[in-house]
Amino acid sequence: MRQTTAMKITYATLSGEGLDEVHAALDAAVESAPGSFGREHPMIIGEDRVVADEQFEDRSPVDDRIVLGRFQSGTVEHVQNAVAAARRALPEWSLLPWQERVARMRGVAEAIREHRWELSVILGYEVGKNRLECVGEVEECSDFLDYYCDRMEEHLGFVTPMDGSGDEQMNLSVLRPYGVWAVLSPFNFPMALTAGPVGAALVTGNTVVAKPSPITPLAVARLAEIIAGCDLPPGVFNLVTGGNDTVSHELAVGAGIDGVVFTGSYAVGMQLMHQDADRAFPRPFIAEMGGKNPALVMRSADLDKAADGVKASAFGLQGQKCSACSRVYVDGSVREAFTEALVEKTLDIRVGNPLEKDVWLGPVISETAFERYRSAIAQAVKDGGRILTGGERLSGGLFDHGFYVEPTVIDDLPLDHELFHTELFLPITVIGEVDGLPQALDLANGTEYGLTAGIFSEDESEIQAFFDGIQAGTIYANRRAGATAGAWPGINPFGGWKGSASTGAGAGGPHYLQQFMREQSRVRVF
Ligand code: NAD
Repeated sequence: MRQTTAMKITYATLSGEGLDEVHAALDAAVESAPGSFGREHPMIIGEDRVVADEQFEDRSPVDDRIVLGRFQSGTVEHVQNAVAAARRALPEWSLLPWQERVARMRGVAEAIREHRWELSVILGYEVGKNRLECVGEVEECSDFLDYYCDRMEEHLGFVTPMDGSGDEQMNLSVLRPYGVWAVLSPFNFPMALTAGPVGAALVTGNTVVAKPSPITPLAVARLAEIIAGCDLPPGVFNLVTGGNDTVSHELAVGAGIDGVVFTGSYAVGMQLMHQDADRAFPRPFIAEMGGKNPALVMRSADLDKAADGVKASAFGLQGQKCSACSRVYVDGSVREAFTEALVEKTLDIRVGNPLEKDVWLGPVISETAFERYRSAIAQAVKDGGRILTGGERLSGGLFDHGFYVEPTVIDDLPLDHELFHTELFLPITVIGEVDGLPQALDLANGTEYGLTAGIFSEDESEIQAFFDGIQAGTIYANRRAGATAGAWPGINPFGGWKGSASTGAGAGGPHYLQQFMREQSRVRVF
């Protein structure tokens, strides 16, 4: 993979030379960013910048006094226009030699890197991410693109000579693009989960209409401006914004779209796939959905490592990651020691303005999320759960201008309680006691989800049994940096099983790109 800087920032690590420079660059970007906030952002349809009759406002969860921008409330007609523009651009783009598309997409990866500080700070203000998470997400965008370019090169554009070829006949397998793709991204990783699917679709010769969550339009609008400013013909990449019932719905189930990448909740993803089944003929619908990710802490575990790993995954980004560790099954023999260590480490967490250097947790995304927090805590208490730490909203100063809550550990709930099954998407984790690995595995596998999972054990046979028995797409053993979270393109393919994803191929992995193409078996007789 091409990498232009010595420093490497992922979700788990800030390593290498120049960290002071990173923080200095971020300090400057944090200070200058508000100067660009508040302006109106058009949609990108073909070569046009398009405004709608109505706009909506986007405020920062970090401080609700900050208006980040005004965005277009697009209509069904805007989506149809964008799809038509993408369709018009398709012949030229899909017939470009693949090497040429790779070169242009590497240019996009580089352009994103060049804007890394500005984009990072937008993520901080719009999603409430801390500095490490922000820079990591921007870096991930570029790494997704480079990784997919690398795969095109490795597979020579996915043109594969087949047996039986000779002087009289040539047999080829050629993977060809489907056509126009819709990319619908979630609020929590708005840039990476737009850039990744967009990059995969484009490098394989498709064209795209992208649409952000209405909660995070700025991150995607700025990314879109950068993509559109690169060397891509007009219409290859389009951006629409607007509400879920209009723009999102039309993009996901309307006519004229040949493939969809939806990243979001199980409820919405399943609903859209049901509607998709009514079409005249099938098309790819790549749905990356939620998780209820368990960590298993076994008798032989290194408990300090386990507590660090659970803390990182349970509370990173305020628990608003699809890979968040929202339940822990701990062996009875080490329950008390593990729980004590987790609570002690959780008490060290600093909640505040996530753009400040030493703050780890920012606010949850919205009042709706806070209401979910309050009601989950109330439900837990009512049903006999013990709040070991957390459970409260913070107040005073900046805390009165966002929904800042304490990271929360809950114990003593019955193992079949709904908080062990429902994805909350909040900084709450529940602890359940088990007697050995078989019970832990049964419980871990007992939800509709199958995204990520982790184990802490020093027993090799136990780790192998976990790898073999857990029903999840992305799994970890003994990972201090994150029990269940933290994947990177080209290093850890990221995807889910069961109700967590529709295809079984992980993003940033060797099987992802092929989903954007269909095979044509060519027989040429001489
Ligand atoms: P969401 O389901 O509310 O929205 C996801 C996308 O779908 C957004 O673009 C949204 O505008 C659109 N949408 C919402 N309702 C729609 C409707 N009725 N019709 C058409 N489109 C609609 O999800 P969210 O709250 O933005 O994101 C959080 C969810 O995403 C969590 O469940 C999380 O686990 C999941 N997620 C999964 C992954 C993964 O890789 N598996 C990654 C990130 C987030």
